[in-house]
Amino acid sequence: MSLQNMTSMLQRAQKNGYAVGAFNIVDYNSMRAVIDAAEELRAPVIVQTSVKTVLFWGYEAVMSWMTQLTQQAAIPVAIHVDHCTDIEVIKRCIDAGWTSVMIDASAKPFAENIRLTRQVLDMTASCGVSVEAELGAIVGVEDDIHVKAQEAHLADPDQAAQFCHELQLDCFAPAVGTAHGVYKGEPKIAYDLIKEIAARTGVPLALHGGTGLSDAVFRKCIGLGCAKVNISTQLKYAHIDGFVNYHQENKVYNPLKPLAAQYNALKAAVAENIKLFGGAGQA
Ligand SMILES: [Zn+2]
Repeated sequence: MSLQNMTSMLQRAQKNGYAVGAFNIVDYNSMRAVIDAAEELRAPVIVQTSVKTVLFWGYEAVMSWMTQLTQQAAIPVAIHVDHCTDIEVIKRCIDAGWTSVMIDASAKPFAENIRLTRQVLDMTASCGVSVEAELGAIVGVEDDIHVKAQEAHLADPDQAAQFCHELQLDCFAPAVGTAHGVYKGEPKIAYDLIKEIAARTGVPLALHGGTGLSDAVFRKCIGLGCAKVNISTQLKYAHIDGFVNYHQENKVYNPLKPLAAQYNALKAAVAENIKLFGGAGQA
């Protein structure tokens, strides 16, 4: 158990009709909240780091928290770098101990996306690190990747089939109408596209832009084949609000108090999502 890649946890989730939550952390407190919430619910979990977070703290620091927090964990935990466009960063993450990586070459032409993704698969083949790749363009801002509404486009199902046929991915992230950040208006999810891509590829799908989707939308997407659900923006709010609200209410200059409140807010948000995605009791 404990630290592993996401291959078998996603395959089990896909087979049994639930999804593994992938939660973006930004520091030790948020990583601890994610792992503790999953542990209490006996759920497999994916700790996700943006490239920005990795570069802010350094590879070794982030990995040392992970090692320490998973040593006693009785659940499977993966550490995954989210939306990475830089092969060098992926290489450094693998060397530091990340168990899973996302190569996001979705902004490149199709053939170039395949070539770069294959390069990452070649790098990970011998070290047991799982790989996620993206096709299409998901609207919104994630890390340093900005996709404007007029540039966003859904994944083409024929290209998706070819992409997954040529590449042995552990997880596939086709753009299906979800958005990064906060939704402006009702999201338009291409359910038929999710269904078709899931059927034609057989690969566990990742649902990006999870924050703000309704419970019913989550259930439908998971039922259609989304085995990994990414939650980032919601945790950014819990992180800041958990700390700030405590301080505004109590005005005590003891940083450990608002940090504890922040941890509790993050843990509650993570637990709520794990239960919603059906992951509780699956570890
Ligand atoms: Zn994303």
